[in-house]
Amino acid sequence: MSNRFHSIFKTIPTSSSFLRNHCFISLPPHFTPRVWICSGGFRDRMEMEGNGVSEASSSEVAVVVGDGELLDKKISLIRKAGPVKLQVIADFDATLTRYWVNGCRGQSSHGLLRQGNPEYDIKRRELYEYYHPLEFSPTIPIEEKTKLMEEWWGKTHGLLIEGGLTYEAIEHSVATSTIAFREGVVELFEFLEKRDIPILIFSAGLADIIEEVLRQKLHRSFKNVKIVSNRMVFDEKGVLVSFKGKTIHSLNKNEHALDMAAPLHDRLGYRDQPTDDNASVKLRTNVLLLGDHIGDLGMSDGLNYETRISVGFLNDNIESSLDSYRKAFDIVYLNDAPMSGVVKLVSELCSNGGD
Ligand SMILES: [Mg+2]
Repeated sequence: MSNRFHSIFKTIPTSSSFLRNHCFISLPPHFTPRVWICSGGFRDRMEMEGNGVSEASSSEVAVVVGDGELLDKKISLIRKAGPVKLQVIADFDATLTRYWVNGCRGQSSHGLLRQGNPEYDIKRRELYEYYHPLEFSPTIPIEEKTKLMEEWWGKTHGLLIEGGLTYEAIEHSVATSTIAFREGVVELFEFLEKRDIPILIFSAGLADIIEEVLRQKLHRSFKNVKIVSNRMVFDEKGVLVSFKGKTIHSLNKNEHALDMAAPLHDRLGYRDQPTDDNASVKLRTNVLLLGDHIGDLGMSDGLNYETRISVGFLNDNIESSLDSYRKAFDIVYLNDAPMSGVVKLVSELCSNGGD
């Protein structure tokens, strides 16, 4: 799957500093952007540095950069400002997690939930089937669509409460789910944690599920990670009784919603450790944004950023979507790529060796 496009690419040289550290190839005539192939493993990638272009292999990843000069300029600006000005904003589903898991479509943090009450699982599914087409309808004005999304999220949350969702059901749902992080996510989080660079994970899903996925799949916590998502309130028996704060849905998941974010480690045993408060996060005006939908670019709305580098993961429908992704994102990784290229990028952003 990941090598589907390799046969139509050919290797070309580059003068871009970002791209000098990546192997890159050109697209066939009906594609306008250049594509770079990078080895899948971070260690392999580091070993390739300075070697310029190398041949594709089975572990390689295709990368598209629409404007290499602009990207280099942004990298230079962020490097000069230093790690203290940088924050990372990431979507969760199909961005931090893989699109394919063992040959099957990976589940989303919302989609994996089994309430322990089939009647309510069916009711939530029916809501999805009604509202999901409306979410992507090109004819519904944004104000009306926003109301529909609030309605959908409100009804879904109501069903979770009415159906008596328990935290135990969340734990079981995650344990039996088809969800996995991209290779390199732990390295990315560790690298950023060491440099006190915050990672805001924006999701219109459920913070408690995302935290449980982090706990079960990564087996550790990171003090620099914040989940900006819908947070549940459980009673002493572990039964859901309400939701905290304003509903975050697909059309308002951005830094305006940051004030309702709670530290990741509330549930992970780091309750007493200090974290950046929301005000200090907003002073970090350089952004690395990671998403898998063009709409994810809106996650930095509400932040008056100076320089933003956007990375898009184009996981599927590549031929039909590549052009729009290439125009929207600074860097596009194709075919459900690992996170290792982003690890390399942040190491460049945090290096202080000048240009
Ligand atoms: Mg996503």
